[in-house]
Amino acid sequence: INKPIATPTRTIEIMQAHGIKMKKSLGQNFLVEPHMLEKMIEAGEVDKTTTVIEIGPGIGALTEYLAVYAKEVLAFEIDPRFVEILADTLSPYDNVKVIHQDILRVNFKDETYAWLHDVERLVVVANLPYYITTPIIMNLISSGLPFQSLIMMMQKEVADRMTAKVGTKAYNSLTIAIQNEMEAETAFIVPKTVFIPKPNVDSAVLKLTRRPAPLVEVADSNAFQKFVQVCFRQRRKTLWNNLKAEFVSETVSDADLKAALEAIDIEGSRRAETLDIYEFAKLYEAFSTFY
Ligand code: SAM
Repeated sequence: INKPIATPTRTIEIMQAHGIKMKKSLGQNFLVEPHMLEKMIEAGEVDKTTTVIEIGPGIGALTEYLAVYAKEVLAFEIDPRFVEILADTLSPYDNVKVIHQDILRVNFKDETYAWLHDVERLVVVANLPYYITTPIIMNLISSGLPFQSLIMMMQKEVADRMTAKVGTKAYNSLTIAIQNEMEAETAFIVPKTVFIPKPNVDSAVLKLTRRPAPLVEVADSNAFQKFVQVCFRQRRKTLWNNLKAEFVSETVSDADLKAALEAIDIEGSRRAETLDIYEFAKLYEAFSTFY
């Protein structure tokens, strides 16, 4: 790529030429370091057999690299100002389609996207708007899309939660939500200095790969997720205290809860962060009778 968009000079030039400023509210921090883009391409093993979905192309810093390395790119951008700029900055590439839409409103089960099920290889690569990282990922996981992996730049703290191991400080309900269906690994850490404007937080690129099968099969995965949140509600309290606060009622007594815990051999004196996903599933099944 001759003069990449992802440099401070070009980015500022493009913004000034169009007379626009970035919106903090839409998580607009643009990458101005081509090396980071190459590393993202590498992490996604993007090649000429790969169809890529991008979220938030902005002025096209990453999109341009994807266009060069991938077979084709489908990019969703919420800000109409960028959709216009992209028509210009990406005009040398005929394998990019930009759609002006809020990614959280895209229904990938719609007929329009049926073709994505027939492509040779599908990955998602994005420098995410950080304010909606979790909903974007959860939607993609439940979208039914046959992607091989998701390569996503996000706040480092969130990447730490998604990759956390049981018993660590970062381990929480988000860890469980992600790791049940996906294998999560941090591809690399990203310094603040590679963005314009500089964000207040550190970033990391996370790689999520779908597991052949979920670690645990539960009757209702939303209810399971809520249940895990209950267990973590007061992180420093014991499982017993969190469960008691949620479940004891006129019809459910302390003794009922104690019996349920005993039956599955999980000590109420433990803290949620010590339970692995299999134990959470067992606990959820045992307590689902109390809802
Ligand atoms: N891809 C560019 C880059 O790497 O420099 C820009 C990344 S910037 C962190 C996030 C982008 O997501 C912005 O262009 C922003 O307008 C866009 N965005 C924010 N909310 C969105 C949403 N709900 N749906 C689609 N795009 C969104």
